[in-house]
Amino acid sequence: MKAVLKENPGRGFVLRDIPMPEIKEDEVLVKVSAVSICGTDLHIYQWNTWAQGRIKPPLVVGHEVAGRVVEVGRNVKRVQINDFVSAETHIYCGYCHQCLTGHPEICENLKILGVDTDGAFAEYIAIPERVVWVNPPEINPEFASVQEPLGNAIDTVLVEDVVGKSVLITGVGPVGLLAVGVARVSGASQIIVSDIGDFRLNIAKKMGADILVNSRNENLREIVMDATHGRGVDVGLEMSGNEGALRDVIYLASPGGRVSLLGLFDRDVTINLNDDVIFKKLRVYGITGRRIFQTWNIGSNLLKSGRLDISPVISHKFTLEEFDKGIEVMERRESGKVILIP
Ligand SMILES: [Zn+2]
Ligand SMILES: [Zn+2]
Repeated sequence: MKAVLKENPGRGFVLRDIPMPEIKEDEVLVKVSAVSICGTDLHIYQWNTWAQGRIKPPLVVGHEVAGRVVEVGRNVKRVQINDFVSAETHIYCGYCHQCLTGHPEICENLKILGVDTDGAFAEYIAIPERVVWVNPPEINPEFASVQEPLGNAIDTVLVEDVVGKSVLITGVGPVGLLAVGVARVSGASQIIVSDIGDFRLNIAKKMGADILVNSRNENLREIVMDATHGRGVDVGLEMSGNEGALRDVIYLASPGGRVSLLGLFDRDVTINLNDDVIFKKLRVYGITGRRIFQTWNIGSNLLKSGRLDISPVISHKFTLEEFDKGIEVMERRESGKVILIP
C-alpha cells in the first residue's frame, strides 16, 4: 500500500510502497477515506526538538482519520466490518489510576496514534478497537477526519458552559477556528478573536466571530475593554501558545470568569498570578486531549445535525501523494485544515 513515512531523522516525509498492516486480535483494519494534517504532523515533518526526542523512524505518520472498517480482529466486539469510523488518537491503557478514575486522556501509559504507533497517512491503518469511534453515516469523511482536533476545541470551549457569555479566543489556528464555531453553536453572546494573520481571522469571521483583532497592529486590551464596557470577557480561551497572548487573556478575563489553556508554550512563562488570577477568583483549566468519548459524541452530533458547519475551516484538499503541498500551505500559516485523500 501507499504510505507517507518519517523514514529518517531530519526534515521531510517520503511516500513509499509498504506492506499492509497486520491487525492484532483487539484491532480493526481501516481503509482510509480522508486524513487531515495536524500541527503534530508538521512538527514531525520539521523534526523539531519535541519530535527528535519522541519519534522513532521509520514511522507512518498522521492520525486524524476517517475510513471504513474492512477487517476485525478475533476479540473485537463493538466494531463491525463496513462501519464508518474515526479514531481517538490517545491510545489509553485502561488500567492505570487515571484510566480507572475517568481520565483516560491523561493515561500514564499513553501511546499516540501516528506518533508512537504507525499512523493514517496511508491507504490502510490498524486501530485498537477501544479507541475507535463509529461515525454517524451522514457525516462526510472530510469532516469526520477533523473530529479529533474538533474534540480539543469542544473540551476547551465547553469545560464550563458559554451560554450568554462573552468569549475571547487568542490564536485561531485550526483548533481555534473550530472553537469559534463550537462557541457560536453553544450560545456565546459575543466572540472576540485575536491572531497575527488575516487569512485565519477571515475564516474566524465565517465561523461566527463578532470582533476580529489582528494583534500585530491592533491593541487587543483596548478593543476588548471597549467591547465589554470595561468589564472584560466572561470566558478566555488561550489557543496560541504565545506568552503575550496568555497575559492578555488572563488580564482580560473578568473577575469571577474562566480561562481555558490549550496552546503549548515553548518555554516557562510569567504571569501576574496575584492580580490577574487570585484576586479575580479566576477558574483556570489546563486542557489536553479530549474527553473520551463525551467530546466525540458532542462533535459527531453537531456535525450530523448540520448545526455546526466546519466547511470554512477546511481550506485545502490534496491527494496523499501531494502531502508536500499541504505541509507548505501550513508552514505559510495560510491554511485552516488541510485534508489528504489516499
Ligand atoms: Zn491532531
Ligand atoms: Zn491508563
